[in-house]
Amino acid sequence: MRRAVCPGSFDPVTLGHLDIVGRASQLFDEVVVAVGVNPSKSRLFSDEERIAMLERACADFDNVTVSSFSGLLTEFCRREGIIAIVKGLRAVSDFDYELQMAQMNASLAAEVETVFIPTAPEYSFLASSLVKEVAGLGGDVSALVPDFVLQALVARLTSGDAAADEPGAP
Ligand code: ADP
Repeated sequence: MRRAVCPGSFDPVTLGHLDIVGRASQLFDEVVVAVGVNPSKSRLFSDEERIAMLERACADFDNVTVSSFSGLLTEFCRREGIIAIVKGLRAVSDFDYELQMAQMNASLAAEVETVFIPTAPEYSFLASSLVKEVAGLGGDVSALVPDFVLQALVARLTSGDAAADEPGAP
């Protein structure tokens, strides 16, 4: 049984994430989509909301489950018997960071491999932070997220109780 993890913040899940998860699910026996839980980062959606949205979005994939982790991803991999960390690559800027992270993770757990999957061209510009920013300004992001995520975004962004966006978002 070859298990892989697709880690991320998924705040919220986009069609770009789901493209990577779906392609990873073709390569591995089982894929765990793992939501990183970090109390020091403010998110638009709570941990529970992000997990629930992912569970709904991944329901059609037979071999995909949703989980969460805090602390080191490599420790999560060891605990869960995961042999590969799957990351999507959009641009050179992703590569710089992801290569550094992959090498750090390899130094922590040499038995866990990092696998990069190139973004589908139609999602190469797509990031959760940008979706939130554009939706918050009234832009149409319906082609970029599942329908129920769009509804949750609109509800959250118009309710006035949105948490601050994650640090570093444009
Ligand atoms: P975001 O950058 O959208 O906030 P996350 O931090 O949740 O996303 O990213 C989780 C993983 O999903 C990362 O490996 C990231 O590179 C990948 N990813 C996110 N959006 C895309 C996309 N549009 N195409 C390919 N991979 C993506």
